Amino acid sequence: MICPYCGYKSHVVNSRSHSKQDAVWRRRECIKCLSIWTTDEKYELSTTHRVFEDKTSDFEPFQRDKLFVSILDSLRHRKRRTQEAGAITDTIINKILHDRTAIIKTTKIQELTYKTLRLFDPTAAAVYNATHFN
Ligand SMILES: [Zn+2]
Repeated sequence: MICPYCGYKSHVVNSRSHSKQDAVWRRRECIKCLSIWTTDEKYELSTTHRVFEDKTSDFEPFQRDKLFVSILDSLRHRKRRTQEAGAITDTIINKILHDRTAIIKTTKIQELTYKTLRLFDPTAAAVYNATHFN
């Protein structure tokens, strides 16, 4: 990775993995200007996972935005819905990653989303249910 300040090469001075999150945190240092910054390395689900769309019997790449928007919509009665929808989206993505399968069905994502929402806010779960299971 190149330095965000001067564009020169950097090296890793410290590294730590988040055991629960499938992520690696790294502290990097620029070889030339000695500036220091951190990076978080995570799986990008759009490249590691494919979604099997039951309705069309076809595959599509995983799209975080699609999941986020569906959750945000279910939380429309809540004040802090944008932050909350982001956190819930991350929770669901972590659950998908822990499943250790490269292909996930749309229905499985919906089921996970519904269960996660139900624990967080039953009203949101009901809204989600009405929109996605009919
Ligand atoms: Zn630099």
